[in-house]
Amino acid sequence: MNATNGTKGASVIIVGGGVSGLSSAWWLARAGVDVMVIEKGIVGWGASGRNGGGATHHQSPLFLEEQRLWPQMDELLRYPTEFQPKRIRIALSDQQVEEFKIGVDNTRGQGFPAEWLDPKQVRDLVPLAGNNVVGGVYYERGGHANPQRTVQAYAWALQDLGGRILQHTAVTGFQRRGGKVAAVETNAGVFSCDTLILAAGPQTGRLSALLDSEVPVTAARAEMIVTEPLPLMPIGGVDGNHLYGRQTLRGNLAYGGGPHEWLRPEDDAVAVRPSSPLARNVAKRLAELFPKAAHIRVIRSWAGVIENTPDGRPVIDRLPTAANAIVATMSSVGFGLSPATGRAISQLVIDGRCDFADLSSFRLSRFGNLSPDWREERGWLPPQTEDDDARAA
Ligand SMILES: Cc1cc2nc3c(=O)[nH]c(=O)nc-3n(C[C@H](O)[C@H](O)[C@H](O)COP(=O)(O)OP(=O)(O)OC[C@H]3O[C@@H](n4cnc5c(N)ncnc54)[C@H](O)[C@@H]3O)c2cc1C
Repeated sequence: MNATNGTKGASVIIVGGGVSGLSSAWWLARAGVDVMVIEKGIVGWGASGRNGGGATHHQSPLFLEEQRLWPQMDELLRYPTEFQPKRIRIALSDQQVEEFKIGVDNTRGQGFPAEWLDPKQVRDLVPLAGNNVVGGVYYERGGHANPQRTVQAYAWALQDLGGRILQHTAVTGFQRRGGKVAAVETNAGVFSCDTLILAAGPQTGRLSALLDSEVPVTAARAEMIVTEPLPLMPIGGVDGNHLYGRQTLRGNLAYGGGPHEWLRPEDDAVAVRPSSPLARNVAKRLAELFPKAAHIRVIRSWAGVIENTPDGRPVIDRLPTAANAIVATMSSVGFGLSPATGRAISQLVIDGRCDFADLSSFRLSRFGNLSPDWREERGWLPPQTEDDDARAA
């Protein structure tokens, strides 16, 4: 890696202090690379500090690495992530049993056990489950962690290795030289770099457009609710009923789940405020999932903004318009995959290729024939507001 010749900057600059950016930075710093993360708010301010904490992505080519790394992360980072292994999915209808089949096949196909459970077995393993259970699945591999603790752990571990994090610093543009990004412009000055990584969640497309590359990503708003603490269940990673979430180590149920609200990417700053209809909907379905907890009070809620690509899969690739720029946007699965994505991205920077997983399905070129109306075609448009109506009039 080239040094930065004493100028203000770093060998690798990463835009975005979420789990994707921080994990990449930490893996790079472990390999001795001079790295700086630039974050417009505080680390974890985006989806990374607001999510369900799930780490069970059997559909991803990074699943094996996700499952290999999570049990080691506290030791590697030297800070707690509160990772807990195992996951149970509860089905409350035959339709939900059907929906689980692909996950069971995927998991078994990759050599991990996945056991179908009958209603009694579910109730034995999940004391809060009720008589409405139709079936379930037990995953030996899979799990969950605390998003806030994980963000902190990455950030502190990175700083312990000499990596730098600039918070409250917004990236506003890029300077290019000879087909490469030479420097990053921010509201706190210009920072030179040898390599740029764009890991800005829902804002990744807007930033890549400044480099003349289209990365199709749009934003949706989700809400999480947290209940009072309950006695700890034997396995805290329980989901189903189209909810995601976990029981915290203190006993709270922290859950969220669609339907999500589609947004304009520029609206993500206001969209992090909770709205009661979404939170009420999550609370209703949580009471169905855990009838024995239906009496418990919701003590807090928050909203978060999820990044979504047209096919729901991450983009990890070099930008076609800037030879030293890598784009990393995770399309709603970024928390659990972060140990693996960070390692993959660090290898792309250092070696030019990832040696432990096939990342070809994450290439940007798969969107080569994407219709300009892809958001409309999927119904992923924000609801019309009075302001929109006034503008249109
Ligand atoms: C409610 C909810 C539940 C979820 N549940 C799960 C789950 O259970 N499991 C799972 O794996 N995933 C889950 N996700 C998705 C997961 O949280 C995201 O995929 C992941 O956090 C993305 O991380 P990231 O670092 O790529 O992006 P982000 O966390 O969005 O971070 C991007 C960062 O870039 C910064 N930024 C943007 N523009 C600029 C700029 N111009 N200059 C500087 N900084 C900038 C932002 O402030 C932000 O901090 C959930 C998401 C939400 C909202």
